[in-house]
Amino acid sequence: MLTSLLSLLLALLPPPLPWNGKSRELIAKPDDKWITVAEKTGFTATPTYQQTVAWLRQLTLAAPELRMISLGRSPEGRDIWMVVASRDRLFTPETLQRSGRPTLFVQAGIHAGEIDGKDAGLMFLRGLMPGGRWRPLLDRANLLFVPIVNVDGHERTSPFNRINQRGPDVTGWRTNAQNLNLNRDYTRLDTEEIRAVAGAIDRWRPDLMMDIHVSDGGDYQYDITFGWNSTGYSPQGVRWMEMMLGPALNRDLRSMGHLPGPLIENDPAEGLTMTNLPPRFATGYCDIRHIPSVLVETHSLKTYEERVLGTLVLMASALETVGREGMVLKRSLMADSEQRINPVPLEWRVPKVITNPEMIDFLGVESQKVPSTISGTTRVEYLGKPMTRRITVERQTEVATSVPRAKAYWIPAAWAKIAERLMMHGISVERISDAREVDVDVYRLRDPKFDPQPFEGHVRVAATTAVEQRKQRYPAGSYRVTTDQPLGDLATALLEPSSPDSFLQWGFFDSIFQRTEYGEAYIVEPMAEQMLAENPALKQEFEKRLADDESFRNSPEQRLDFFYSRSPYADSQWRVYPIARER
Ligand SMILES: [Zn+2]
Repeated sequence: MLTSLLSLLLALLPPPLPWNGKSRELIAKPDDKWITVAEKTGFTATPTYQQTVAWLRQLTLAAPELRMISLGRSPEGRDIWMVVASRDRLFTPETLQRSGRPTLFVQAGIHAGEIDGKDAGLMFLRGLMPGGRWRPLLDRANLLFVPIVNVDGHERTSPFNRINQRGPDVTGWRTNAQNLNLNRDYTRLDTEEIRAVAGAIDRWRPDLMMDIHVSDGGDYQYDITFGWNSTGYSPQGVRWMEMMLGPALNRDLRSMGHLPGPLIENDPAEGLTMTNLPPRFATGYCDIRHIPSVLVETHSLKTYEERVLGTLVLMASALETVGREGMVLKRSLMADSEQRINPVPLEWRVPKVITNPEMIDFLGVESQKVPSTISGTTRVEYLGKPMTRRITVERQTEVATSVPRAKAYWIPAAWAKIAERLMMHGISVERISDAREVDVDVYRLRDPKFDPQPFEGHVRVAATTAVEQRKQRYPAGSYRVTTDQPLGDLATALLEPSSPDSFLQWGFFDSIFQRTEYGEAYIVEPMAEQMLAENPALKQEFEKRLADDESFRNSPEQRLDFFYSRSPYADSQWRVYPIARER
């Protein structure tokens, strides 16, 4: 039953477009000692975690310019490996940075069912061995390569893990062993896996980052798509990618028989929208750290062979470009790290008014809509015939939400766990040894809205804010986080309540929403009477509320609380966000 269902589904995938790219010449000959599992099996299989690690051990033993480094361990106890490729055998973060050569960081398998990057990377590393096709690239650039980020998900194998994907026959699973999507954890750092990878990015300081995926969605001609945040937090880096990297990748991919295209998130018939990925995503995270970063998505309906070879060509082209244009890249990165953008953007949107709409010839595939008895509406049927359509492209270049750059944030000692997470990112956090009086802006949160369903192990919450100015005393042991540092934008995104990736919105501060002291009615009642007698304005306000607000009028609790919350007994700290902005 299972086998017949599987063959039925494979037959039901839209027909593949014929492909015979020049990149096939990169496949190892059958007698090559370093042939990979994918190549040996005609790209029907991908190696297991153990096979991958064993192959890498052999390869790195034979190649003195390659070294395996464990970045940490997964919840199921697997090492997350990174291969360092350095001509001068500089295998520590400090020595590699001193090499002066730019460094490319590539991660694969963060969604373990989308494993193209691992198999492409193994072939690429083979080509970096002495005498290899790409060995000269190491004269000008270093490579850091993580073959499998989601090592536990990689071992949850099945032929039924990727319904929309054409191979390999058996793949891993999207989320980790705790059912968390690792590509949403870059700001929270809940998972061991992303703590390991983000830690590596912080220590090794790459100059360009690539995150490799496989994209589902509609059918189109492109076999590999890539892109980056439109402006984001690294404008010079974005310019470098637009001027140097994009053209080189497109040229090299085309010359090897691939068809590169823009990232496709939505139905192209409506035009394309290029969203700025927030920092919870790997590439959005690198953007806010001022590391130019590229999201790569091969197309799930292409064969595994075509996808892996396209990824391989892209990796080689990227390392070549990083080497050739490395000085400009390093300067861009430096300029972005030194800027202190103010106000700090927290969310982006497509501008409402676009004077010169951007148009592209989209290389699609013909489709038709047929009536569906299953859904009761219609379904799209792809016909396997190439077609070109002129469509608009919209980009999120406009800031939707921002905050004035705080001088610094103050974290009370009781919230040390927040300071710890900031330090895990590499944000510099000062623990004060003498008490200080500080002029701060404090947020009082109003009208919190909790999501009805948990998301990534958290119940998210959003609240509106009102700012109160205070002079506050911070005892020794409190934490101060200046925003005058390269990771100041990241600190802002993590600490501002209106930031979608703030610890507040991820539910790290839920306890502050709870009320903990109450007045008994027989006490509040006479107190209210006295308050009314002494304060005519209050009386007016109460009467107006009674007249205007029906639910208030009908609620004895709300009516009593009207007075309790205005009395000196009310909790002055209720719903006060404990992290304050230094003025
Ligand atoms: Zn993915």
